[in-house]
Amino acid sequence: MPTSAESSGIGEFELIRRFFASAACAGTQPGVVQGIGDDCALLALPAGEQLAISTDTLVAGVHFPEAADAFLLAQRGLAAAASDLAAMGAAPMGFTLALTLPVADTHWLHDFAAGLDVMAKACGLALVGGDTTRGPLSMTFSVLGRVPAGQALTRSGARNGDLLCVGGALGDAAAALPLVLGQASAADEIAGPLLERYWSPQPQLALGQALRGRATAALDISDGLLADCGHLAKASAVGLLIERSRLPLSPAILQLLDEPRARECALTGGDDYLLVFTLPPAELASLQADWPQVEVIGQVITGTGVEVVDAAGNQVTPRQSGYQHFGSVHG
Ligand code: ADP
Ligand code: MG
Repeated sequence: MPTSAESSGIGEFELIRRFFASAACAGTQPGVVQGIGDDCALLALPAGEQLAISTDTLVAGVHFPEAADAFLLAQRGLAAAASDLAAMGAAPMGFTLALTLPVADTHWLHDFAAGLDVMAKACGLALVGGDTTRGPLSMTFSVLGRVPAGQALTRSGARNGDLLCVGGALGDAAAALPLVLGQASAADEIAGPLLERYWSPQPQLALGQALRGRATAALDISDGLLADCGHLAKASAVGLLIERSRLPLSPAILQLLDEPRARECALTGGDDYLLVFTLPPAELASLQADWPQVEVIGQVITGTGVEVVDAAGNQVTPRQSGYQHFGSVHG
């Protein structure tokens, strides 16, 4: 975060009041009995529903460049966290924000709160609490949702014969990364849509809820399709077969990259925050009638792990499957 002359002597409580407690996304919302201001937030859960909770931390220099735009950072951070609610089929309720700042820069905070508002509104999430501390820039989002008891989508229900499906075009965020890092450039009409997918991912909350009672297993792509499918395969004790030629690609990625590199991004690039799920074949037609962007990319098979095949059916499984913070996937 840049320091500035406006890094005024604003105190913790004034900061919370000015930028978070009075933010539009901290306003009243159904189900929020007590929001920011007391020791805990209180949320009312309808009878027969379960609480879904997920936490995501973003650290400067690890998950984003230190100088990243505050508006975009807030937007992307909250979207990434909310995507976990989508993956469980949960309806969004609220979120908390634990923010660690090296300095209280009011311009930065203003932009950050504005980005938070935009994504919170898009997701239907109310800011209900948080924590504010001084230190190296990092942010932790905890998202709260609700799901009818027993109906959450988990990673563990995939069955042999199910179709493997994805919620939209893959790889755009990974293709955008060199643009984000200033390692590559492209004309605005190509860079624009890709950067949008990186900085403003749209968690598939409505699709996730529509998959309740239909999909047998689901997760959202954060580490890369191949790595995340590996998690699903393991949790369900099945194998997954991905047909590389069926991976949906956006027009923008195909303008930036040649097709083999675009398919590589789609397979191994992270940060797409689209849903991947397994679906009994009988469910496909009705689902695609409402969600035409849903594509079949493979199927559940017996065995373990994830296999990728080309259009001729030859094995083309890449060695590198996705990003991990500790150690290597081959280690
Ligand atoms: P406590 O000392 O009881 O933990 P704090 O003084 O840290 O409470 O916070 C006061 C209130 O402001 C609490 O309701 C807390 O949830 C909220 N809060 C603190 N920081 C943030 C933030 N960054 N965003 C939203 N709410 C926050
Ligand atoms: Mg307290």
